[in-house]
Amino acid sequence: MRILVFGPQGSGKGTQAELISRKYKLPYIATGDIFRFHLKSGTELGKKASRYTDAGELVPDEITNEIVKSRIIQPDCVNGFVLDGFPRNIFQAKFLNEMVEIDWAFLIDLADEKAIERLKDRLACKCGLSYHLLNNPPKVAGICDKCGNKLFIREDDKPEAINRRLEIYHQETEPVIKIYQDRGVLYKINGDQEIKKVFADIEKNISLKK
Ligand code: AMP
Repeated sequence: MRILVFGPQGSGKGTQAELISRKYKLPYIATGDIFRFHLKSGTELGKKASRYTDAGELVPDEITNEIVKSRIIQPDCVNGFVLDGFPRNIFQAKFLNEMVEIDWAFLIDLADEKAIERLKDRLACKCGLSYHLLNNPPKVAGICDKCGNKLFIREDDKPEAINRRLEIYHQETEPVIKIYQDRGVLYKINGDQEIKKVFADIEKNISLKK
């Protein structure tokens, strides 16, 4: 089961990708998380990537492709994986295509205005959890439920970066989605519903083809 999850920032693609990974016991691979992990750990890669991630720009393909390749050739990926945030442009899609065949590509569809509305109220914690001021607030304002650290707004959730990320999504990622549509493996899911409803729609499409 090799699964891709697409969607504009704020569509909840990460949440859905994690739910798929848990339910079908597949490794969850999110390129954004890998970059944030390196940034937090202060690695050279993290420093190099942060120049791009902070501004909402794509990290160069040669860096990103290698990260994905080295992850999906690991033994835990032999039966499949859930990939969130990759491929994001045509070059990355070609690179992935040379390595593996994709069974399902889910597009979590959400209008830009709704995505912006969701992102502007998003709070992050350095442990990796994220919250939403209205839909998923922390128990104590501004503090992470899990680790007690102070919550913050991600650099790339600030308005200029959000606009740039959505622009890249439309210009560079949408043509990639079209490739999977032409191959007949794209499933468009309405992202403007409750989390469990979105997931139920995904499950339905998986079970139809499994
Ligand atoms: P995300 O959490 O998926 O929104 O990713 C956060 C940031 O990581 C993006 O805005 C990019 O700067 C970088 N990033 C994640 N995935 C990729 C990718 N496939 N190609 C290039 N940059 C990426």
